Amino acid sequence: MRKIIVHGGAGSVSPEMQRAREPVLEEAARAGLEALVAGPERAVEAAINILEDSELFNAGYGGAIQLDGEVRLDASIMNSALECGGVISLPGIKRAISVALLVMQESPHVLLSGEGALRFAEEFGFAPEELRSPRALAKLRELQEELAGLSYREQLARLRQQLRFQPTGTVGAVALLDGRLAAGTSTGGRYTMLPGRVGDTPLIGAGTYCNEFGGASATGAGEDIIRVCLAREVVRYIEEGAHPQEAAERGIALLARRTNSSAGVIALDRFGNHGAAFNTEQMGWAVCESR
Ligand code: ASP
Repeated sequence: MRKIIVHGGAGSVSPEMQRAREPVLEEAARAGLEALVAGPERAVEAAINILEDSELFNAGYGGAIQLDGEVRLDASIMNSALECGGVISLPGIKRAISVALLVMQESPHVLLSGEGALRFAEEFGFAPEELRSPRALAKLRELQEELAGLSYREQLARLRQQLRFQPTGTVGAVALLDGRLAAGTSTGGRYTMLPGRVGDTPLIGAGTYCNEFGGASATGAGEDIIRVCLAREVVRYIEEGAHPQEAAERGIALLARRTNSSAGVIALDRFGNHGAAFNTEQMGWAVCESR
C-alpha cells in the first residue's frame, strides 16, 4: 500500500489563509504519492519541498525570522529502520528537509547545526538564498518595535510571556510504501524567537519520530512539544495497539494535561491507517493514497 499524510502547521490563522493553504497541501500530498516509488523518505522530501517553496507556510521561503533578522531553518527526517537525520539553525537554505535527508544518508551523524550544517549543505550543491518573505518581515518588524529600547533581560521577560501561543505554519509528512515508513518535519521556528532558538522540529522524538510500527510529525508550541517528546509518545501508543487517530488524540491530550499548551500531530501506521489531532484553533492537513 502507498499512502502519505501531510500537515501545514497547527495554530490560529485567518480563514483566507486556511483556504489559500489547502490546495498547496493537496499538491504536496500528490507530489509525495508520486515520489513514493523511490521510497517513503523521498515521498516525505518531495511533499515537504513543495511546502518549503511556498510562502504560505512557516518553512523554507517565508519561514519565521529570528530577532536578529536571520532565517535559520530546523528540519528532521526518520524512517522505520530508525535511520534519521536533521539540521538545526541552518541559515538560508530553503529545502532544509533535503539537507536533513542527506545528513541521514551521507553523514556519520544524526544532527548538524549552524555553520557546520551550512558547510555540509554547500558540499551537496545547496546555496543560501533570500528567504525573508514580506509577511515574515512584517511580523519581525512588529516584534522589533515591541522590544525596542528594552535590555536583553527585559526582552527575555517579554518573550517568556509571549511564547505560549502564536499562529504557525510548520510543515510535516508521514509516508508509507509497502510496510516501510518515513516521517519528516521542517520549520522556520516561531515568530517570537531569540537568535539561536531551537524548537522541537529537528529533535528526533519531539517533532519527528518513526519506527517499524508508525510515524508521526508534530507542530505547535515547540518548547512544550519537547517537554513531552510528543512524536515519540504518539508512535508508542501505536506500538501498544492504538489506531493512529486514537494515538494522535492521546498525544495531544497528554501535551495539554502536562504542559497546558497547544499543538497538533499527524500519524500513520504500517497498515496505512492515519490520524490527525490538534488542540489549536486549526491545523491543515491532506492525505493521498493508492493500492
Ligand atoms: N513547532 C514549531 C517550533 O516550535 C513551530 C510550529 O509548529 O509552527 O519551532
